[in-house]
Amino acid sequence: MKDYFKYIISLIIGFLGSYLANQAPEINLALSFLIFCGIVFLVLLFIQYVYPIIKSYLHMVFLSKIRGLWGDKYLDKVILNQYKNSSEIKIKVTRGINLFKKGKVFHQCLFVEKFNEEKTIKVLLHFPCLRSIHISERANANGIPKEEYVEDLFKLLKIFKEHSRDTSQDEKIFVKFYTSKKEKEWRYYIFHKHDNDKVLLFNHYNKKIQGSKSKMLKVKGGNSSLCDDLNFTFDNLYDNSSLELVSNLIEQDELMHSESCGHSECKTLINNLYKKHFNK
Ligand SMILES: [Zn+2]
Repeated sequence: MKDYFKYIISLIIGFLGSYLANQAPEINLALSFLIFCGIVFLVLLFIQYVYPIIKSYLHMVFLSKIRGLWGDKYLDKVILNQYKNSSEIKIKVTRGINLFKKGKVFHQCLFVEKFNEEKTIKVLLHFPCLRSIHISERANANGIPKEEYVEDLFKLLKIFKEHSRDTSQDEKIFVKFYTSKKEKEWRYYIFHKHDNDKVLLFNHYNKKIQGSKSKMLKVKGGNSSLCDDLNFTFDNLYDNSSLELVSNLIEQDELMHSESCGHSECKTLINNLYKKHFNK
């Protein structure tokens, strides 16, 4: 790729050189020297600033196999297509309610479309601690109070539990809550496809934008790609550093670990919301 750019640069210089040579009788030496200096300066600027950017984007596309930067309808199309062809789907977000609302893509995947095969959905959400900076930031980005943000979680847990218990549905949904501060930067979905391939869709949190409205990039699994790396991170987080809040056993719905952040106000809120939404 570097050779390709060198070729273009030498082509431009060659073209301008021959143009100036042809004009030689009509232009004076000082002017051609100035033009030459200007061209050298522009070439140096290109090599210093533009070339590294172009090179890194090309690396992203060709070497890292990163595609996309999709939002809205086209992203929905990509997600629906990946979902259809996957037996296991992993979702790591903060709260997730906006993904599963009526009219949103995962609502369509889970509650509208029928695939006639069992799909395992593993969801990793942030533990609902009222003192968590990440929860505060995400509640702000969504323009709602933190308490409402936590209540949405329980609404979602109830919907998931009912869906998993319904034998006419495709999905069995398992939800755990991560507490690690390190893991809050990325939100992503991993699709384990029927042909054993994996596909990652990911994006970075933006303080001003709802996660569900963010644009996403796609990376294929294999060759130790970012997809493999985040898949490993997800499994590690899910297995070793996250907690169930409502039991994931299909027929059970006990409240668990409500005191795990150690704040009495969080425990009280979690207990009250659990009682309200699970009719306890
Ligand atoms: Zn707390």
